[in-house]
Amino acid sequence: MHALIIGGGVAGPTTAMALQKAGITSAVYEAHPVGGNGRGAFLSLFENGMDALHAVDADQVVLEQSFSASRIEFATGAGKRLKDCRLDQDTLGQIPGPRILRRSELCRVLSDEAILRGIPVVGGKRFLSAARTATGGVAATFDDGTVVEGDLLIGADGIHSAVRNIIDADAPQPAYTGEDIVCGYARNAPVTAPDDTMRMIYGKQAFFAYLTTPGGDTWWFVNIPGEFGEVEVAATTPGQWKGRALERVAGDDGVATALIRATQDDCVGIRIYDLASTPRWHAGPMVVIGDAAHTASPNAGHGAAMALEDSIVLAQCLRDVSGIESALERFEQLRRGRAEQLVATSTRMKKRAIPAPLQRLLRDFMLPRLLKDGPRNAAPWLTRHHIDWDEKVDAPAKGR
Ligand SMILES: Cc1cc2nc3c(=O)[nH]c(=O)nc-3n(C[C@H](O)[C@H](O)[C@H](O)COP(=O)(O)OP(=O)(O)OC[C@H]3O[C@@H](n4cnc5c(N)ncnc54)[C@H](O)[C@@H]3O)c2cc1C
Repeated sequence: MHALIIGGGVAGPTTAMALQKAGITSAVYEAHPVGGNGRGAFLSLFENGMDALHAVDADQVVLEQSFSASRIEFATGAGKRLKDCRLDQDTLGQIPGPRILRRSELCRVLSDEAILRGIPVVGGKRFLSAARTATGGVAATFDDGTVVEGDLLIGADGIHSAVRNIIDADAPQPAYTGEDIVCGYARNAPVTAPDDTMRMIYGKQAFFAYLTTPGGDTWWFVNIPGEFGEVEVAATTPGQWKGRALERVAGDDGVATALIRATQDDCVGIRIYDLASTPRWHAGPMVVIGDAAHTASPNAGHGAAMALEDSIVLAQCLRDVSGIESALERFEQLRRGRAEQLVATSTRMKKRAIPAPLQRLLRDFMLPRLLKDGPRNAAPWLTRHHIDWDEKVDAPAKGR
């Protein structure tokens, strides 16, 4: 069996490594140059994500390129402490708490590891369309005019997936959440967070978080209400993003303002979309995984971990279930509920991030109670999810 994987982001190379472990060959086709530009947002990879990587022995390389933030401190915009929590108690395995790194770095590390294992990861290949072949496989066409054939096509092509639209021409499109995230990297900042700690500020008009790397840089992000359309956002400069972020934190205690001001041009803004449910994850020998199948807004910080879990479970299904279409059906049965629960959880968390004034009072009163046992324990189904690579997957249950 040979799989064509579209997308060399988080799920693409990981799926390729999992398939290889299952005895299935594949190649990854990525629209952009492999290795990325080193810019963009950073993310927290919680232990269920690291656990998924452990299933394909790729956790160590990510561990080496990331740092930990196993403490969280919550405060109001006025500087009032709401709660301090540890995230590294009662962990799944040897990996304590979330690991922090840029998303582009995570993709690079995973692609490099896949290449090291002999898997082709080809950059500059934008997938355009797919058609069934006479032998029941699939032929994928790219924007450079090339066509490649395989037994199945895996769409790991992210939120604006082309594969999703081929599986189902009526597939719902991701919806703009009305929220933008601005992310910045400050050198020699006047404010730093303690080692291993992420500080989160529930401000008057924005949710702001920051942490300091072992090298001394301070990374921050802020959730702000979206004001502009896609075209304006694409044309927004780092300076303008900083300006928008500054407006939103102006009424708070000055920590966020100082950090934004200390940031040079290493600052990006991203429009946030989500996709609550995709009716069809697979058709014939084609399937979508990760953000292409289910996109959660980043509020719960789990989209990448969920994409990594998908990668492993898909490979297990193809390893154990006889017939590609049955394997894809089983994959969807195993993953849909969990993935959609994450999208719903993230949507609820967004309401806490940028509330109306009255809701803000209620939020500041309720948060310490909600976080009584620590944020992770508030959602153990999310972070304590373990995948046992050796566990055998059974055939799909009949009907949905
Ligand atoms: C601001 C922000 C913060 C986030 N924070 C977190 C966090 O803290 N923790 C967490 O777990 N998750 C976080 N996420 C979510 C996480 O980034 C995504 O869920 C994750 O990247 C999804 O992985 P994926 O492989 O499905 O898609 P992606 O990583 O998006 O990869 C898709 C790849 O497909 C490529 N591609 C697209 N179209 C084509 C095509 N036609 N042909 C070929 N290639 C194509 C793209 O270039 C891309 O490389 C965050 C997201 C955002 C926006």
